Amino acid sequence: MPCTGKCDDHWNYDHPSKWPKHFPAAGGLCQSPIDIKPHKTVAQSYSQFVFSPKYYTDGVLFTLTNNGHQVAVTLTESTGKQNHTDLSFTGGGLTGTFHFVNFHLHWGKNDRHGSEHEIDGKTFPAEAHFVHRNYETDQVAVFAFFFTIAGQSKNENTEWKKYTDVASQLIKINDTANCTFNLNHLMQTDSRQFFRYMGSLTTPPCTEGIIWTIFSSEIPIKEESLNLLRDNVMRKVYRPVQPINDRIVFRNYQT
Ligand SMILES: [Zn+2]
Repeated sequence: MPCTGKCDDHWNYDHPSKWPKHFPAAGGLCQSPIDIKPHKTVAQSYSQFVFSPKYYTDGVLFTLTNNGHQVAVTLTESTGKQNHTDLSFTGGGLTGTFHFVNFHLHWGKNDRHGSEHEIDGKTFPAEAHFVHRNYETDQVAVFAFFFTIAGQSKNENTEWKKYTDVASQLIKINDTANCTFNLNHLMQTDSRQFFRYMGSLTTPPCTEGIIWTIFSSEIPIKEESLNLLRDNVMRKVYRPVQPINDRIVFRNYQT
């Protein structure tokens, strides 16, 4: 059953080309996602990311919410034992301290679609975003991770299976559920290979000035797990690629 209830905030994933009508920024020149052409990227050496200890901790409690467009996951603050200042990182060539805001998944109606970014025109079955904000500068930095279908050689990432199991029960707008996650297991940032460019939020209002970090390692997930989301929550949750225009994409390859 598709997501029930009606969003009256003037946008959906059926007609992304109509977003600029209500959200002018969506028609800008520095929009996301984009198709990254690795041979056109510029090599750069970035400092290492340094994450706070809570990123490596089991049992951190999060709240999943069906917001009508995706199932976003925020830190549960009501326990009084944890708050967003516990989850932060520095480094990676960014200035200052960035705090965790939310993470969520983008997917498509089948395994051929679902990622927002593409690599040389290649799409992936899903893409995860981890949104962080520097509360001093108000800058937003997003980490993106691609998924691959788990098979005999690659076992499914069990943290992401927890996400799909719980999120697929949130079939109505504003449905919520709590679940514990280990962010380090979700993010797989051990690989230091990533791309960096300046873009936008991929959902309205599509605000620009967002710092994107696209990791090239792929997270294994089972097709059945994605089907749970497709069948119970929403069929597709991704914006198509936007013109890169004259932007430069950097790469932090370890060679
Ligand atoms: Zn996103």
